[in-house]
Order: sequence, then structure tokens, then C-alpha cells
Amino acid sequence: MTSTAARLTQAEREIFARIDAILNTCVQCGLCLPGCPTYRETYREQSSPRGRLHLMRAVAEGRLDVLDPVFTDQMAECLGCRACEPACPSGVAYGAALETARTAVEQARAARGRRSWRERILRRLVFDWLLRDLARVRALGTVAWLAQRGGLQALARRGGLVRALRLERLEAQLPPLSRPFFAPRGQVYPARGERRGRAGLLAGCVMHTAFAPVMRATVRVLTRNGWEVVVPAGQGCCGALHLHAGEPGGARALARRLIAAFDAAGTDVVVTNSAGCGAAMKEYGHLLCDDPAWADRAAAFSARVRDVTELLAQEPLRGHLAPLHRTVVYQDPCHLLHAQRIAAAPRALLRAVPGLRLVGADEAGLCCGSAGSYSLLRPEMSERLLRRKLDHLLATGAEEIATANPGCTLQLQSGLRRRGLRVPVRHVVELLDEAYR
Ligand code: SF4
Ligand code: SF4
Repeated sequence: MTSTAARLTQAEREIFARIDAILNTCVQCGLCLPGCPTYRETYREQSSPRGRLHLMRAVAEGRLDVLDPVFTDQMAECLGCRACEPACPSGVAYGAALETARTAVEQARAARGRRSWRERILRRLVFDWLLRDLARVRALGTVAWLAQRGGLQALARRGGLVRALRLERLEAQLPPLSRPFFAPRGQVYPARGERRGRAGLLAGCVMHTAFAPVMRATVRVLTRNGWEVVVPAGQGCCGALHLHAGEPGGARALARRLIAAFDAAGTDVVVTNSAGCGAAMKEYGHLLCDDPAWADRAAAFSARVRDVTELLAQEPLRGHLAPLHRTVVYQDPCHLLHAQRIAAAPRALLRAVPGLRLVGADEAGLCCGSAGSYSLLRPEMSERLLRRKLDHLLATGAEEIATANPGCTLQLQSGLRRRGLRVPVRHVVELLDEAYR
């Protein structure tokens, strides 16, 4: 540690008081270390869950400044993958502790004027403007789509504009976009066969623009399995990106809006095909627990949230599935495997497809390095983890990679493109949809 100055303000002290109980739960046994991707890459104690909890404790007790470079670097280097949670025998809620620590860091940086003008503008643009309205996300998506069609994206890359704006990583991850996007307008898709219930489908900021075909495949597979699907109007972003970036106020505002939109649509379950969004929505009860007007509603909402693979695997798949003769490896999204503890459901669905041979990869629980905006903010570590992940996935000899989260898909696709490989990366529901045709 490079600083021992105790500079916690009253506001920061209050923030850390919220995770006091979590920090006290850690008995420093170290059982979480082997599953931590950043520890596995560096073998440094401070890059491990135990090391980071130790740093949080030092800040909470005023022994280390909240903006000490070691602390801020470790809070940023952590992927938030939560692989440390299922490994912990004491039940340390690491994800909640990390979000709180990041909130304290961001508040201190804002209060002490430690943000560059570029960062200030970017944060306000992304968190207070872009992600507050899905129509703006679609407008940006349309600009990107036009740029791709008109060859402007390639031109900007070759002409050096992408590098000048420091957008290389973002540009490398942008998939080929297709229109129309899957805008939430309250549309209802009737169930086929015996009706199981009414499922409200989350559009999601990335999914409904960059992965509109996956959204349509999700609707087809759900309705084929007896679910009436409604896509509530007025829904917005789930707030996960705000939470990961230490902006809980923005996340709460978005959570309230989403709950109101889905409650108005009267759904039995809330379904998502994005593991990161699902993990965030399942924790709305915790996010809004101090808001008397919303706490009960948020808890009831969270109890209704299902990942699409979780919902579909509850009962045997209906109808005829045509054979898909290929070898597929499943890549576990961290926010499905660790945050939601869902591993069997997507695998069971893939095994239900005749002819499909499902294989497993080594280190399946290790993050691919995507982790929301991590791949843009910490490119070096992200790249190391991506390399490691792709080596394992490709060693299986699989012809396709299946996953269940947009971030993982974009990350794996960009890595495969750079290796010059044409291995498709697809959502589990896309494979089911193909088998249903
Ligand atoms: S496994 Fe749990 S109790 Fe043990 S060091 Fe890690 S966080 Fe602490
Ligand atoms: S969230 Fe992931 S990267 Fe962060 S400490 Fe836990 S296992 Fe390590």
C-alpha cells in the first residue's frame, strides 16, 4: 500500500458502513483464489478476492485513502465476474462489496476533481443520456448500421479516425448490424399450443439493437413452448452498466422504470436472454431495499425474473426438433454461472437437440474478459483472458460456440475474427430456433 492517509469523508464512511458486515464475513481462507481470473493471470495476492477485500477493509477503517492508486487500480482490475462467490464457504457477498467500493471511488473522484474532461463528458453522455432512453440507443445503432453499409466504418478505420478517437476496441467488437431493430412497443406474440403463461421479454440496450435476430429467435422458441410473449413498451436499460461503473443512483432510476413497465404489462415471468441483465434484475430487491415505496415491488419483480434458458429447461421442450449434426462447446457467461448459479439449464437444452454433440472446455468457469465495459477499459487483462478462453474452446474441436450473453458473444467473435477463424458464436436459443425450423 502506498498511502496510509485516512481521508474518508462522512459520505464515504456511510457508504463503507453498508458493507461492514460483508467484509467481516471473510475469514481469509483463500479458497476463492484458484477460481479468480485476475489472480490466475498474475498470482498476486492483491489481485485476488481476498486481497481486494483486505484493501476494502483498510479503506473502511481509514488506514488507506479511497483514491490510493493501489485501491483504485484493484477495484478497476476486478472483472466483477463473481467467480469468488460460489467458491466461498463463508458466503461473502463479494459482488455487493465491489459495487459499493466502486461507488465510493467514483464519488471521491468526482468530489475531488480527479476526472479528466473527456471522462466527465463520456460518463454523462453514456450514463445520463444514452442509456436513459432506448430510442437513443437505436438512433446510435442506426448511425453505426449506415456507416457499415456505406463502408464508412472501414474508411474510418483505415484513415486513422478510429485510432484518433481511441475507439479501436469498441470498433473491433462491433458486430455486423442488421435492421430492423427489435424495439419494445408493447407487441404481443400469442402462445402456440397449450398456454403456460405470459412472459414479459426484456429488450435490453445491446440485445435489441446488435442482436435483433436473437430477440426474434427467442420469441419464436418461447411461443413454440407455450409462452405468450409481451415486449412491454416504456422499458429501458436494466441499469447493470451503471451499477458496475459506480453509479447506483442511475441504476435505481432505471430499475424503477423497468419494474413499472413490466408491472403495467401484467406478466407472470420476466424473461431475458442476456445473463448480465438477468443478474442485475434478480437483485432489484436488494438495490431498492431502502426505498419504502419500491422495496416490496422490486422484491416481487426480482422473484419473477428468469433467464430464457432457465425458463425453457423447466419442462421438456415441446414439438419436433430437427437434427443439427455438429459439435458445439458451451461458454458459461459469468453472470449466468456465478451470479445466477445456472449451469445445467443451457446444457440440457443443447443436449435435447438431436445430432448435436455437446463438448466441454477446460477452465469453463473462467471469465472470457468481456465483463461489460471491462474489455474497453482494461484491454490488456481482457485480452489475456480472451486468449486463454479461446485456446480452451478451440482445443475442443467444436464447430460452433454457444453462449447466453451479448458481452461474451462480442468478445469471442472479435477474438476469433482477429485469429482469422470463422467459428460461429451463437446464443443457445438460436440453435433451438434452427432446430425448430
Ligand atoms: S473464500 Fe471467502 S472467506 Fe475465504 S478468503 Fe475468499 S472471500 Fe474470504
Ligand atoms: S469478481 Fe472475479 S475478478 Fe473479481 S475478485 Fe472475484 S473472482 Fe476475482
